[in-house]
Amino acid sequence: MAAPDLDTLTSLAKRRGFVFPSSEIYGGFASTWDYGPLGAELIRNVKEAWWRRVVHARDDVVGLNASILMHPRIWDVSGHVEHFQDPLVECPACRRRYRADDTPDLRCPHCGEELTEPRMFNTMFKTFVGPVEDEAAVAYLRPETAQSTYVNFKQVFDTARVRVPFGIAQIGKVFRNEITTGNFIFRSREFEQMELQYFVRPGEDDAAHEAWVEARFAWWRELGLDERRLRLRPHRPEELAHYAKATIDVEYEFPFGWGELEGVANRTDFDLRRHAQASGADLSFFDDAARQHVTPYVIEPAAGVDRAALAFLADAYRVQDVRGKPRVFLSLDPQLAPFKVAVFPLARNRAPLVELAARIAADLRRRWPVFYDATGSIGRRYARQDEAGTPFGVTVDFDSLEDQTVTVRERDSMAQTRVAADALPEYFAARLAW
Ligand code: ATP
Repeated sequence: MAAPDLDTLTSLAKRRGFVFPSSEIYGGFASTWDYGPLGAELIRNVKEAWWRRVVHARDDVVGLNASILMHPRIWDVSGHVEHFQDPLVECPACRRRYRADDTPDLRCPHCGEELTEPRMFNTMFKTFVGPVEDEAAVAYLRPETAQSTYVNFKQVFDTARVRVPFGIAQIGKVFRNEITTGNFIFRSREFEQMELQYFVRPGEDDAAHEAWVEARFAWWRELGLDERRLRLRPHRPEELAHYAKATIDVEYEFPFGWGELEGVANRTDFDLRRHAQASGADLSFFDDAARQHVTPYVIEPAAGVDRAALAFLADAYRVQDVRGKPRVFLSLDPQLAPFKVAVFPLARNRAPLVELAARIAADLRRRWPVFYDATGSIGRRYARQDEAGTPFGVTVDFDSLEDQTVTVRERDSMAQTRVAADALPEYFAARLAW
């Protein structure tokens, strides 16, 4: 199946309520996006699937939910004030700005003029805390969650009864004042990350790095991404972030080309060592085997929620010819699908039908998000749920009133089965288990 182009995807996302351009009634606001009813469910499901795998399915990872604003010194010590910058070039004719690495020939992609010499631009968002806007009140919106995990290392270590190797996982908003944004939700200035900091003994870092690359790659594949559109790409030495010894990206072939979904970095003891030095806190642990205090090394898988949502949407997009007409559906993994089941009474003006359908919907809703739709032709209702990626439809018809059975329609195959209404919870429990 060929990938849909980005316009097709953006318009489906808007039409069905996955993603809206932000502030649209005011004409929009540069590359900001809002998740609508379906999108809000999708990204919740992405985050839950990540948390289940990275935290709940393991006995060596615990969670953290830290604040976005932190002591500004953290960003000095971490090296972000000095290094978290991109090379900015400008066109003297049209004044457009670009990241120098996006314009290798140093010509303006818009008007062909020669661009200015690159100057470094720090992409951290600055703000002021409290009523006075002076240097002493400067704070940053975090550009990654990782630093808040490092500065809580000791608190977690002392309270969670963990032993090295162990990990601290965090999901949260981050902000980067990117020079250029675009490709829909691929690159924006406010986005969400799912990050794990996995602490290991020095010397055990390379093996742990390899294991996490493998584990993370498997997660993307198991959630349905086409293996042919997934690859691993090690960073070249000159690409490495200031804190990294080695980084391997999980890349996906988006409709506009290959792009990073997740980076898995070996951050060594760089951050913990610097924070220990600057704060005076002891960020080491006592290694019984080595009989000494050791600062752990960190392996960091860092994925973007928004890019994940884009990859899952693009990958799930299908068009099928059904009796000469195109049928569009999203073949999303049921774990990710915003609604798991849709319930339709065949006619909305027959009270017993509507009552039975409403009862079935209410019953299923105790376990799963259910969409109830009583209006329009049944074909149109199926089509709407196909585009929403709902894996199952339940239709209550006139026979249902006689024999208490309903039709279950499966999204991808369109296969229809008759199932006893009472048996539906069991039927779906077997098919919606993860
Ligand atoms: P890129 O090279 O694309 O700018 P990065 O290497 O700076 O990304 P990381 O710092 O490794 O990204 O961040 C981890 C993850 O956060 C990325 O793999 C990506 O999924 C996500 N991410 C990074 N920048 C953005 C952005 N501007 N918009 C949306 N998601 C982003």
